[in-house]
Amino acid sequence: MNAPAAASLSQELELALVAVREAAGVCTAVQRDLVAAGSMSKGDKSPVTVADFASQAVVASHLAQAFPDDPLVGEEDASALRSGDEAALADQVVEHAQDALGPDVSAERVLDLIDRGNHQPDLANLGRYWTLDPIDGTKGFLRGEQYAVALGLLIEGQVVLGVLGCPNLEGPDGEPGLLLYASIGQGCFALPMNDPSAKPTPCRVTSASGAGGDAESARFVESVESGHSDQGASAAAVKALGTTAEPVRIDSQCKYAVVAQGKAEVYLRLPTRKGYREKIWDHAAGMLCVQEAGGRVTDAYGRPLKFDKGSTLADNAGIIATSGPLHDAVAEAVRPHLPDPAEV
Ligand code: AMP
Ligand code: MG
Repeated sequence: MNAPAAASLSQELELALVAVREAAGVCTAVQRDLVAAGSMSKGDKSPVTVADFASQAVVASHLAQAFPDDPLVGEEDASALRSGDEAALADQVVEHAQDALGPDVSAERVLDLIDRGNHQPDLANLGRYWTLDPIDGTKGFLRGEQYAVALGLLIEGQVVLGVLGCPNLEGPDGEPGLLLYASIGQGCFALPMNDPSAKPTPCRVTSASGAGGDAESARFVESVESGHSDQGASAAAVKALGTTAEPVRIDSQCKYAVVAQGKAEVYLRLPTRKGYREKIWDHAAGMLCVQEAGGRVTDAYGRPLKFDKGSTLADNAGIIATSGPLHDAVAEAVRPHLPDPAEV
């Protein structure tokens, strides 16, 4: 990248780690209550909604304080909460946001913070902005399984910083809670979620000669939700590649975290629906973590991901993330199982 390269992003990184850690704490508390109440199977979406909005408010608050001029492209906005019908939901969001931000933060301020996420990138003048998925993997969250708080920083359409908070993945201390981060050109590192004083552990993808370096022993991950990735196509591609292991299905950008840490070699996300475009907040942080850990990330057709098209990856379809050596072979194996790019 040009200009203010990564070396000068240390303040942004520090802030992003604090913000994601705090937002993950809010989500963890809500998920714990959810599991305790045994309400996951009832299809009640409101707990995830509360945590989603509160998580965005918490991250937006930190960004607003430290970098007031930086826009945010977030998954959520507060319009639903502002409607009178959702007053009870809004109260819960405010309560959870106050748990993290302090009791002095007013309800109106919480809604305004959430709405900071409304930025629409100007394609003619991209500049610098953050992108946030306050809870990526909402289905996993509701099942009491994996989800992630994902925060990325983009400068001129390039992802320069990414932080993934994965409360239910194992951290480098062996305890639940992983904070994974990368800044461009600086590598990828892991921290325990619940020990702010811990030293970062460098992360690397598996090497070519290590476990999974060959196609036969490669380990692969994909979405739990068959609506998010064509599991039939991925099974056929993996079979053609000679891979014998069963897929491991994980929700959210935790899949990128698993590849970045050398615990799997391949993450496949193959298009299921014509016209669907991946959202930047679903991939910015994860992609950078894998790349900075030494891996490769493209779309399902082997094309580089283009983050300069606004809030979606408009020129791309699907995702292939790998430890590197197998990437071209994986893309080739996937190709016969994809629709014509003009049809996607
Ligand atoms: P995952 O947990 O990896 O299955 O992905 C969760 C993300 O999938 C959500 O944040 C959604 O933005 C995204 N999503 C929703 N619909 C689709 C779709 N048809 N194809 C791919 N991703 C989708
Ligand atoms: Mg998401």
